[in-house]
Amino acid sequence: MKVAIVHNQEAKTIEVTERLKALLTQSAIQIDGQRPDLVISVGGDGTLLSAFHKYSHLLNEVRFLGVHTGHLGFYTDWRDYELEELVNSLQTNQEQSVSYPLLDIKISYLDDKPAKHFLALNESTIKRSNRTMVADVYIKNELFESFRGDGLAVSTPTGSTAYNKSIGGAVIHPSINAFQLTEIASLNNRVFRTLGSPMVIAQDEWLEIKLENTEDYLVTVDQLDIKESNIRSIYYRIAKERIHFASYRHMHFWHRVKDSFIGEG
Ligand code: NAP
Ligand code: MN
Repeated sequence: MKVAIVHNQEAKTIEVTERLKALLTQSAIQIDGQRPDLVISVGGDGTLLSAFHKYSHLLNEVRFLGVHTGHLGFYTDWRDYELEELVNSLQTNQEQSVSYPLLDIKISYLDDKPAKHFLALNESTIKRSNRTMVADVYIKNELFESFRGDGLAVSTPTGSTAYNKSIGGAVIHPSINAFQLTEIASLNNRVFRTLGSPMVIAQDEWLEIKLENTEDYLVTVDQLDIKESNIRSIYYRIAKERIHFASYRHMHFWHRVKDSFIGEG
């Protein structure tokens, strides 16, 4: 087995990463950043997002595993004091694997520029700099609504507890293969009208967001910022690819949600 490690720069994380490397070396597990079978992220959910984007070209071969050095995360199952147990479980190779849906994003342009493709693990948003964003929302090629407001967010089930949740989206169990469209401060009055509530879109459907031609769009894909002009439209659907997690602790999803957002009371 070949293992790559992705970590953040916090002092605690660096210490944990050194211990993990030593344990892997002792167990004759090879560390290989180029063609790993397993990617271990050490840090938080944000670190796992970075690891996903670094290895998103190897999604069919690679499994991910998250060690958290802060609070319990949504993508991080192992605690920093469980490293021995973690490395043992890699050797006995009895880990279970679980996979989650990803979002497929295609940006197409008004000029001849070729379309760009991205995959998101959490979400993609479209916003404008300090102006009202005007966009037509199509579902399966049919006009659904004309949006005016700050922007739109499209998120995966595992991303539903991230930005999506802050803008009033629903938390979705990750075994549901669907994606969610959520409005960011929509302008609603007698002239402009949108649905106003988050929508869960089925796996065989797709969204097209047709944008007004302006110069100042900001499209985000997880932590990545893409400043764009001349966008014709952005297409969203569930990707063919999925992310696979190794050694997944079967923590009840709703338990994790409670632990993160409600606490023990
Ligand atoms: P960040 O600003 O450190 O992340 C914001 C928080 O979101 C962190 O506490 C992060 O956890 C947490 N988070 C990330 N993915 C999550 C998930 N799937 N479920 C629940 N919480 C999650 O930036 P980052 O760590 O690079 O993460 C990027 C993500 O931050 C974006 O994809 C977006 O979803 C989110 N974000 C949220 C807001 C908002 O809620 N207003 C604004 C901007 C970005 P860790 O501390 O464990 O990293
Ligand atoms: Mn973070």
